[in-house]
Amino acid sequence: GQSSGGAAGARFDLEKETELRFEVEAGERVQLELLSGLAEVFGSELNRNKKYTFGPGSKIAVFTWQGCSLSLSGKTEVAYVSKDTPMLLYLNTHAALEQMRRQAERDNERGPRVMVVGPTDVGKSTVCRLLLNYAVRLGRRPTLVELDVGQSSVSVPGTMSALYIERPADVEEGFSVQAPLVFHFGSTTPGTNIKLYNKLTSCLAEVFSQRCEVNRKASVGGCIINTCGWVKGSGYQALVHCASAFQVDVVLVLDQERLYNELKRDLPHFVRVVLLPKSGGVVERSKDCRRETRDDKIREYFYGFRGASFYPHAFDVRFSDVRIYKIGAPSIPDSCLPLGMSQDDTQLKLVPVSPGRDLTHHVLSVSCVDDETEGGESRSRGILESPVCGFIVVTAVDTQAQVMTVLAPAPRPLPRHTLLIMDIRFIDLK
Ligand code: ATP
Repeated sequence: GQSSGGAAGARFDLEKETELRFEVEAGERVQLELLSGLAEVFGSELNRNKKYTFGPGSKIAVFTWQGCSLSLSGKTEVAYVSKDTPMLLYLNTHAALEQMRRQAERDNERGPRVMVVGPTDVGKSTVCRLLLNYAVRLGRRPTLVELDVGQSSVSVPGTMSALYIERPADVEEGFSVQAPLVFHFGSTTPGTNIKLYNKLTSCLAEVFSQRCEVNRKASVGGCIINTCGWVKGSGYQALVHCASAFQVDVVLVLDQERLYNELKRDLPHFVRVVLLPKSGGVVERSKDCRRETRDDKIREYFYGFRGASFYPHAFDVRFSDVRIYKIGAPSIPDSCLPLGMSQDDTQLKLVPVSPGRDLTHHVLSVSCVDDETEGGESRSRGILESPVCGFIVVTAVDTQAQVMTVLAPAPRPLPRHTLLIMDIRFIDLK
């Protein structure tokens, strides 16, 4: 291949089993076109003579099993061809999972439940996307379970979700997220409230299992679980918890032998733990870069992909019309806990929030919980375990008038009145 750099199109001729890697510069766009042969981006096939556009900061690999010619135009930070990829190992992994699905189909069992783990920046999300794409291309219907609360590929940050995959990911936009099941976690790291994190993992596992009981295709398709890069201490315990909640059959460990050994030691013997190398193409992302990706994800929720498809609404909401909660009371020393109360209870407690100026810019989840549900203990449990039906951002608070202005995906009124506050803030610069 050649190096690009300028705005003019550069042509790359790829041999079989190689990939073109490129990164798009800040503020730039890059166009990619398949001129001949066959190629795919993270498991989604490219159409010939179609121009694909990638926005600023995109980090892309175009892989070919058979060989191809590509044209790339626009400003890339780097663009090079690599022959050294773990794609064959990933394909073999897919083949093994497909074998398990076939067997499940034959024996009237359930298909593979797979957990993908590893430290940050090893390509976990990419491997999930690849395996899901390969499965759905064979007519399977796998479920993506997204437990990465920092960099969710399904919904806004601070959420945990499940998405039934019915078609391959769009090359530019990723998987279509028409009806995901989303739970409110509220912050970008599981450590903020590990009890809640584990509880919601169990909720997702339960919902998924229920679906499998009534939907044979979902059951055979199995699931691919994407996890957080926090693999020590409580983060590690959360992985073990997830493996048991979902009764996973396979754990793919990317690039960390220690984690691989620990999981082999701690998981039941029938769980297949597999160590896989990371791709040399995976790009390390800085804190700023992660924050930007999170911001983009929220912006995309309100404005659509590339800010062009949705038109959000701004309107006032009276304080008296909503109930706002935060999940988790600040932890207090064990010795100060009221008799009969444990630290768990404080982490899963719903704390009513009276709206003030400090609510400005916070993202709030709109809970699906029935507005009519009575208060008290059962209600609080209901709210924690209810999915969310959408998100709003508080753009201004008027304590005098007792109203707040919100940015919402749909016109007023809000579909429900129970709101859960996130640690996450979004400043709408549009
Ligand atoms: P995190 O723990 O932060 O969620 P991760 O382990 O899930 O990270 P990915 O999100 O899969 O990592 O990958 C990080 C970045 O590297 C992404 O922008 C992805 O598009 C890019 N990337 C992955 N594989 C390749 C590759 N082979 N060539 C070029 N870029 C790649």
